[in-house]
Amino acid sequence: MPTTIVWLRHDLRLRDNPALQAAAARGAVVPLWIDEGDTGDPWRPGAASRVWLHDGLAAFDALLVARGSRLVIARGAPLDVLRGMLTACAADAVFWNRRHTPAGIAGDSTLKAALAEHCEVRSFAGNLLFEPGAVMTGGGTPYKVFTPFYRACLAAGPPPAPPPEPAALAPPARWPSSLQLDDLALEPHIDWTAGIRARWQAGERTAQARLATFIDDTVIDYPERRDQPAAGAISGLSPYFCQGALGVRDAWAQLSAASAASGNTPYESAAAAWLRQLVWREFAWHLLFHFPHTTDAPLRDEFADMVWVDDAEGLAAWQRGRTGFPLVDAGMRELWETGFMHNRVRMVTASLLTKHLGQHWLAGARWFWDTLVDGDLANNSLGWQWVAGCGADAAPYFRIFNPYAQSRKFDPDGVYLRRWLPELAALDAAQIHQPPPGIAGYPAPIVDLAPAREAALARYAEIRR
Ligand SMILES: Cc1cc2nc3c(=O)[nH]c(=O)nc-3n(C[C@H](O)[C@H](O)[C@H](O)COP(=O)(O)OP(=O)(O)OC[C@H]3O[C@@H](n4cnc5c(N)ncnc54)[C@H](O)[C@@H]3O)c2cc1C
Repeated sequence: MPTTIVWLRHDLRLRDNPALQAAAARGAVVPLWIDEGDTGDPWRPGAASRVWLHDGLAAFDALLVARGSRLVIARGAPLDVLRGMLTACAADAVFWNRRHTPAGIAGDSTLKAALAEHCEVRSFAGNLLFEPGAVMTGGGTPYKVFTPFYRACLAAGPPPAPPPEPAALAPPARWPSSLQLDDLALEPHIDWTAGIRARWQAGERTAQARLATFIDDTVIDYPERRDQPAAGAISGLSPYFCQGALGVRDAWAQLSAASAASGNTPYESAAAAWLRQLVWREFAWHLLFHFPHTTDAPLRDEFADMVWVDDAEGLAAWQRGRTGFPLVDAGMRELWETGFMHNRVRMVTASLLTKHLGQHWLAGARWFWDTLVDGDLANNSLGWQWVAGCGADAAPYFRIFNPYAQSRKFDPDGVYLRRWLPELAALDAAQIHQPPPGIAGYPAPIVDLAPAREAALARYAEIRR
């Protein structure tokens, strides 16, 4: 029986995994995880993502073991590891699902050419709705504005149907040796992971259960309440999409089927609102594919000349949730504690940093990258550039979120604020959004909003000239 190595990267799942499916149909399967070590990629997984990865690998291995298979773990340069593995388990093919980070694309194409001398190599489309390059403007250029991109995706028809779990995963005649998960040292030396682990349980089974609950109970509230950080009206699936415990085509297909079966117009429009967000993710990844420099540089060239403020103290206050603006501080503490922040609050915290404090969006993007369990290179780059005004379809330069107004609008009763800011818990809804001075343990605002807004507008006006 032929044996195929399946090199897993952003796809720790059995369902909707085309490479695994094809390998299983071909014969025996060796599921492989490679720790590439320090490749010099500045966007290696951050500290919170590494913890999440540790738990994701453990959960995936448990799924494989329950099916008579296992996850083989190795460390080193992929070409060396794969060559060694081909011999060790007498395999004659290597399959993977394509990844779309700039470093991943470069590495995979070189590797494919080098490996092709030794074995069959096949790559599959599995991590996006459509492959980059498949959704282009009439002129053959990439979209830089979301709405036409969204329309083009809808016009392209439903994304390819996701394959089911392989019926069986036949083991190879001999298993190669494997490192232990702990050998990868993904967990920190000093354990700060309790908040993350209390909130997030890794793995495909949890992801599927969350998706089912979202489809059955939550999505109906999504259009009305998705912007309210205390409402629980979002899916909370981004950490699973990031690590591939849930495939985006699978989520699309399941919600579309539920919507079609519902015969209920409010449900259909709620489902459409959520699917639209999956297209934002898609948009981010297609942009990153076409403009790989945007992880570190603005998409809009004129912003290369922007003068940013360098203020370590202000940055530290923002990172620690001690800016004196309750919604910002609540979000930053939620992030530190749980590895997640609600989307509305991400926008407000990012706006305060890049506009009122005038700091470089990359300072914020790097902090998010290190602290988010859903750290996703495309979404993070798009999100930060959108808020800073220098990216695709970006917020107009004059949109500067007022953190008090955003707080009153989206958390009117202060439920979210009280959850994360115990110093303010005794304040009533009239006071909590903009606390009076002198609350014990809570800082005064680190910046005066009105002049800071004017200064930001002046900086942006300079760029526009
Ligand atoms: C400054 C900033 C940084 C961000 N960094 C990340 C990041 O590193 N990783 C990440 O996954 N998302 C990021 N986002 C986008 C968004 O905040 C999260 O995807 C969302 O909060 C995840 O929660 P959810 O899964 O409950 O989303 P839901 O509202 O349930 O949406 C479902 C899915 O759609 C996608 N999605 C939703 N909103 C967006 C968006 N604005 N842009 C792109 N895709 C979206 C995500 O895959 C999400 O899981 C960022 C946004 C901002 C403003």
